[in-house]
Amino acid sequence: MLTLNPRITGLEEEGAFAVLDLALALKAKGHPVINLGIGQPDFPPPEHVLAAAEKAARDGPHGYTSPVGMIELREAVSQHVGTRYDVDVHPDEVVIVPGGKVTFYFACHLFGGPGAEILYPDPGFPPYREAVLSAGATGKPYPIREDRDFGFDPDEVLALITPATRLIILNSPANPTGGVVEKAAMTALAEGLEAHPHVAILSDEIYSHLVFDGAGFVSLMQYPSLRDRVILLDGWSKTFAMTGWRLGYGIWPRALVEHVRKLITVDHSCVNGIAQVAALAAITGPMDAIDSMRARFAERRKVVVDGLNELPGVTCRLPGGAFYAFPNVTHTGLASGDLARRLLDEAHVALIAGEAFGDNGKGFLRVSYAAGTDEIEQALDRIKDFLEKG
Ligand code: PLP
Repeated sequence: MLTLNPRITGLEEEGAFAVLDLALALKAKGHPVINLGIGQPDFPPPEHVLAAAEKAARDGPHGYTSPVGMIELREAVSQHVGTRYDVDVHPDEVVIVPGGKVTFYFACHLFGGPGAEILYPDPGFPPYREAVLSAGATGKPYPIREDRDFGFDPDEVLALITPATRLIILNSPANPTGGVVEKAAMTALAEGLEAHPHVAILSDEIYSHLVFDGAGFVSLMQYPSLRDRVILLDGWSKTFAMTGWRLGYGIWPRALVEHVRKLITVDHSCVNGIAQVAALAAITGPMDAIDSMRARFAERRKVVVDGLNELPGVTCRLPGGAFYAFPNVTHTGLASGDLARRLLDEAHVALIAGEAFGDNGKGFLRVSYAAGTDEIEQALDRIKDFLEKG
């Protein structure tokens, strides 16, 4: 009889991947499934990025790079972030990792351990909770509120802090809601955190380039009083449509980088060098492909939100960023879990039930609009038919 680590066996797989498998299985059987479940852009990476990767595949680097990433790439990231947020970022604070997830996974492990408490958003990106648990820490969810356009109440978050709190995970623009935390709330939280110098902040800003007009996104990098305990998470997946390339970066307080290096050398040694060359081309090259991708998402956002609000029993706030809508389905007469399952089985539309993102997600669905407008309109028609049939 094998004995496994309960910290691992007790984890849950991310629901979006399970729905993807179900959707693919239905498709393989010939069903015309429309997938609004998965959170990845449906555009190719920019052409100059592909060209750089092609060249690197031939010319190298073919060996290991520095564990924290090639110096040229770390310099480029420090410049990119420094210019965007008008802050000083030293290349030694930049750590290149295989995907955005790795930065919060490492942060949870660095601050976790028995007795540690880590705060995370609910509804929120499900792997936060699993990273906290795998690190042996206690997770404390804080509520994300529909009536705040899917932001948080800073007092509610601050009230959860105890002497055992070591880390708070923030995410704006957010998965699964598309919510962008308004500047006043972020500033109130940042000011409140000044009274809790024992708490570090992991700010997941992976959707930072996908903010729509009017949504006042503010980066946690822009609060000087927190700068020595903020870890910024961003990367290439969503901005440059490169989810499968596994490329992310963290900006870490300098004193923590030596510990992150140790985790990297235990875990993956370094990021694939060809991907790093592509990442350099992306972050130093023209941003017009990103601007047009954002414009396309903005058009789809309108189609999705208008369409959802026309469905019987459904209401949907206009999300400020990312590519998700989070409609409230409590008045459809069906529990969100049942609704998501039946929409997949009977209407062949894949969506994620809100409770996959935490208890506060119950009564909602996550709709990813990283799909063509025709597909989105067809999916909305199918959902309408389903709901009208009762
Ligand atoms: N953070 C959030 C909020 C996300 O939604 C995702 C991906 O869906 C990630 C991080 C992970 O990004 P990556 O695919 O680069 O690991």
